Amino acid sequence: MTTRRILVLPGDGIGPEVMREARRVLDWLQRRGMVDVECAEGLVGGASIDAHETPLTDEVREQALAADAILFGAVGGPKWASIAFDRRPELGILGLRKSLDLFANLRPAMVFDALTEASALKPERIAQLDLMMVRELTGGIYFGEPRGIETLAGGGRRAVNTQSYTTNEIVRVAHLAFELARKRHGRVCSVEKANVMETGVLWREEVQALRDRTYPDVTLTHMYADNCAMQLVRAPTQFDVILTDNLFGDILSDLAAMLTGSLGMLPSASLGAPDGAGRRKALYEPIHGSAPDIAGKGSANPLAMILSLAMMLRYSFDLGAAAELIEKAVAAVLESGLRTADIMQPGKARVSTSVMGDAILRALERPASAKG
Ligand code: NAD
Repeated sequence: MTTRRILVLPGDGIGPEVMREARRVLDWLQRRGMVDVECAEGLVGGASIDAHETPLTDEVREQALAADAILFGAVGGPKWASIAFDRRPELGILGLRKSLDLFANLRPAMVFDALTEASALKPERIAQLDLMMVRELTGGIYFGEPRGIETLAGGGRRAVNTQSYTTNEIVRVAHLAFELARKRHGRVCSVEKANVMETGVLWREEVQALRDRTYPDVTLTHMYADNCAMQLVRAPTQFDVILTDNLFGDILSDLAAMLTGSLGMLPSASLGAPDGAGRRKALYEPIHGSAPDIAGKGSANPLAMILSLAMMLRYSFDLGAAAELIEKAVAAVLESGLRTADIMQPGKARVSTSVMGDAILRALERPASAKG
């Protein structure tokens, strides 16, 4: 097994608290010889501002570029609320995404059987939900030029943002969606507004052409974004992989996240282009922020962070079996009735961040000892 280099960036607020539990899981796998990793740890966000007066030092950026994968906690908090806009903690993560050209954001939305009651939807609508949202992350209307607000001669103002996509930007993220579908259930639903936007027309044509050229074994459907929002609430289990642009992905991925009930359960990955050896730059993080309201209280849910580690093992290191072991441990612990405050349900046992971590380690032990 090759030794993989992981850069661990816990960040601020609950970031270090949930990262501690993910590190324990990683150490457990290392002790069992299931992974071979070298971890370096660095400061990012507010913690980096406090130490170095910048949310992302050149040194950490260089370490990130050299790493095989980055495990990221969360950044930000009220302590840095009055800091200059161009030095705010959130630039730590934005700077990393930019430096590593992480153009694809992957967000699985899956419901553990034990948590079907936690969704705002009826349990029968979301039972067995397991979809993957692939969002283009570095193009589209959030970055397009021209942009700005101008004052009109006749009074009033005018604001402009530009949605723009090139073939290359569409094709590279579509490749990733098709590859993922091959490892899942073989279906991609590509989402845009080709009925009213030229970028939607180009998106649809390029995705279809790529599928016909390279992925004839994958089933491709197209859907308008407004219909997709409706379908995600009406019948979310119809989806396997959803591929969409930056703007629609921003909105639809939050919608899909809430189908599962809690921010504290949801991992994500941001991936870049493959290098000569087929390895992609990659950053794995929970979708939640630094949760300043509960930081330091030991009550944060570490499962999104632990599931982010599982994604790292699967997508960066091709260690699907180890990832599955973690996911099964999470399912078993939830099944046993343990809950952090954010996913608490009547009749269940409320536990702290570290007790949830202990339970995951015990659940990991069980299948291992059963095998031995
Ligand atoms: P948040 O995700 O931090 O918190 C929203 C709510 O969810 C809070 O009530 C929080 O207590 C709860 N929550 C979040 N994660 C949880 C967990 N693991 N366990 C239990 N409860 C959890 O979002 P916010 O309050 O809007 O933002 C707080 C800070 O985080 C801000 O500074 C924001 O900019 C930053 N943020 C950072 C990232 C990132 O680092 N990628 C992402 C989102 C927000």
